[in-house]
Amino acid sequence: MALAQAAAEEARAAGEVPVGAVLVRGDEVIARGFNHPIGAHDPSAHAEMIALRAAAQAVENYRLPGCELYVTLEPCLMCAGAIMHARIARVVFGARDPKTGACGSVVDAFANPQLNHHTTVTGGVLETECGAALKSFFAERRRASREARAAARGEALAVAGGEAHPGVQVETRSEIHGEAHRGAHVEGRPDEHHEGHSQTRSEPGSAEPL
Ligand code: ZN
Repeated sequence: MALAQAAAEEARAAGEVPVGAVLVRGDEVIARGFNHPIGAHDPSAHAEMIALRAAAQAVENYRLPGCELYVTLEPCLMCAGAIMHARIARVVFGARDPKTGACGSVVDAFANPQLNHHTTVTGGVLETECGAALKSFFAERRRASREARAAARGEALAVAGGEAHPGVQVETRSEIHGEAHRGAHVEGRPDEHHEGHSQTRSEPGSAEPL
């Protein structure tokens, strides 16, 4: 799982939601992958899919029996399907995803014997650590978004003020009209709302592609 966490940090470095996966057979690491659908312009570029593709290429077989997939976030339905097609023996995941998780959080694809004969699932391994990586990513993104909105608002007020010291005037006007307070309040509420889901992929799932 530590290797999967390292892969997740590569996703973060690329500006993508930090999810990482590693595919192993016995003691051998066959492949790894990190989430990057935005950069790849590919909705299927989840960490699990990347690792599965790389592993299948490496062993020149579309089936990967006897392999284990470690991933920092609960797989979605797409990845669960690919995991089954590849005949993966075991999936080990970190944080749970109450919005798109297909290993029990939303649906349990692997519990259906008509779909799955091959894969056992272990969830919640290093759950706190894996969730913290996602939480910090979304916290940073919200902070950047807040700053961008505040900057845009400041510019708009400066233009509206349009006098000798627009910067000073912006602050004064904000205080008089209570905008600084209102602004903080409005921004705070979505944060609080998001905070409850921030260990999960529910945030990117609801707002942005993974
Ligand atoms: Zn997925």
